Amino acid sequence: MPCLKEQVLDLLKKGYPEFVSGEVICRALGVSRTAVWKHIQALRSAGYDIEAVPHAGYRLISVPDRLYPGEITRGLNTSFIGQQVYYYDRLESTNRTARELAGRGVAGGSLVVAEEQAGGRGRMGRSWFSPYGCGLWFSVILYPEVNPLHAPPLTMLAAVAAARALRRTAGVKAGIKWPNDLLVNDKKICGILTELSAEMERVNYLIMGMGLNVNIAAHQFPPEIRETATSVLRETGRRSSRVALLQDLLAELEYWYLRWQREGFAPVLDCWKELSVTLGRPVRVFTMKESWEGWAEDVDTDGSLLLRLPGGEYKKVVSGEVSLRPG
Ligand code: ATP
Repeated sequence: MPCLKEQVLDLLKKGYPEFVSGEVICRALGVSRTAVWKHIQALRSAGYDIEAVPHAGYRLISVPDRLYPGEITRGLNTSFIGQQVYYYDRLESTNRTARELAGRGVAGGSLVVAEEQAGGRGRMGRSWFSPYGCGLWFSVILYPEVNPLHAPPLTMLAAVAAARALRRTAGVKAGIKWPNDLLVNDKKICGILTELSAEMERVNYLIMGMGLNVNIAAHQFPPEIRETATSVLRETGRRSSRVALLQDLLAELEYWYLRWQREGFAPVLDCWKELSVTLGRPVRVFTMKESWEGWAEDVDTDGSLLLRLPGGEYKKVVSGEVSLRPG
């Protein structure tokens, strides 16, 4: 049951664009007029613009551009992913907080979201630029019942969900660079960092962290990534609803996660291949120690990249970083 403030908001949203009288709200929620006024004031301080006119009542004028839990869960088409939201204005990193929450055993599918990350992280400890209010910086906590050896492809599942949501809801033709960066016109729009806590044969928890650039203007990116990063705003020329994009992404995530549980990794991989911008291209692959140049031929059933080397032999790359080379 949502709190009274959320219920007042629900009534205003249902009544939109008409006024809803104070009396109707009092009766619907079984509270006094003073209580209603208090909740209206609380909503206003949270950024909701609400008009109050004597004898007419209250009218919602606008909703703030915030990732409030009520905004995310209202109309969210999932059964568990994102149904429990841990919302923060500012966090060091959503993955870090998600790890703490997972350690306390919060519900599977819980979402940790922040308007800003002070120390957002990419792979190998690299930093992730996550400015206030203009991206989706979030982590989803999952407890997959799977041997830890079979968990790594889940990061590719996250990429599939994000690419499909970006295409459908934001109208941006995102493609996936192996294993899980999302690119638009060869520029990065979304990074994914999946972290696993596991024992010998079981996963304790898995954190799917994502950083998706939504309403970041070109000039806002730091100079060192201005040429390599992009955002929905940069690609479409207009601001998009972060809530709508997140809701679609969470629904996609749940769809593919449930499918993976039922049918295994093959359907995810098929979809990943359709969205890939790596396969069928000449690439350079780096690991900590080595690097190879070759042709990105295919991905294996476990998600590793099959690289055809200039001599014709194949190299199976389990983890590494790919740079796309011009054909
Ligand atoms: P690469 O992007 O070179 O393949 P990677 O996949 O390991 O590396 P991540 O660890 O996912 O990259 O992301 C970190 C890198 O992404 C940073 O080193 C920086 O270059 C870049 N970056 C940081 N913030 C953003 C952002 N908001 N949008 C796009 N790129 C970013």
